[in-house]
Amino acid sequence: MPSDPLTADHVLEFPGGYTRTTGPVIGRFLTELRDGRLMGVRTAEGRTLVPPLEYDPATGEPVTDEWVEVGPAGTVTASAWVHEPRESHPLDRPFAWALIRLDGADTALVHAVDAGSPKALPPGTRVRPVWRAERRGHITDISHFAPEVTKIVSPVSTRYRLTASPSLTRFLEGVRDGVLIGCRCATCEKVYVPYRLTCPECGNPIAGEVTLPDTGTVTTFAINNLPDPRAPEVPFVSAYILLDGADIPLIALVGGVPAHQVRQGMRVRAEWVPAEERTLSMTNIRWFTPTGEPDVEL
Ligand SMILES: [Zn+2]
Repeated sequence: MPSDPLTADHVLEFPGGYTRTTGPVIGRFLTELRDGRLMGVRTAEGRTLVPPLEYDPATGEPVTDEWVEVGPAGTVTASAWVHEPRESHPLDRPFAWALIRLDGADTALVHAVDAGSPKALPPGTRVRPVWRAERRGHITDISHFAPEVTKIVSPVSTRYRLTASPSLTRFLEGVRDGVLIGCRCATCEKVYVPYRLTCPECGNPIAGEVTLPDTGTVTTFAINNLPDPRAPEVPFVSAYILLDGADIPLIALVGGVPAHQVRQGMRVRAEWVPAEERTLSMTNIRWFTPTGEPDVEL
């Protein structure tokens, strides 16, 4: 009768650590690291190896005893993202193991980069070391590398005062009272809303006011997918609405109907905020909602 294989878990470790000598080249590198410097060693051919080696891997020749300071910044040449760091990893959050070519070096060293997201670390990303406060001559004297600062978020705001023209003031007084005031050009008979004092069509001054109803027709519209504090929800519709009797449309929000049901020729009516909440502002009209009448030909 078959049985499960016998298993037992073991740990192979050197409690307290395994002591090894560094040799003169790695020892120099780590000693400089303890002092907060990144150093490379020159090969006979003039290349700078970081981390340093005792022999040039390209030729097998011993390296020179010429040392040069490199970095501290460098460029990521390749990286692998660690989604779930292990206990022994240098960072307790997702990070990248990266090949970093320090400025002045001809080879790359491997170290951790705290980039937040793998998308933030394409090859060519510039990084800098984050040093530990206490250094002891070990590669972990550098806690990790971090991308250079390439952008900041600055608050932007400006204050300004807008002074309404006499005609706009008259229009807004009407809106405060729940009335849409327009005007008719005596020369070309075009009807405009909001109220204005000269005709943009024929250039003549306009004397008289007309009161327009708060019903109209959607002539064209846009579906918006970015939130707007004035809008009912996202997506919402802003539309050109031709008030009944007017010759030019005004722009307003459309509410009370799913965005995808709004159409050209749809009949709408203004939804006013309660009279006691009204101010000298177009926000007195919350939006236009469908009247339910049949669509009209434009
Ligand atoms: Zn005119």
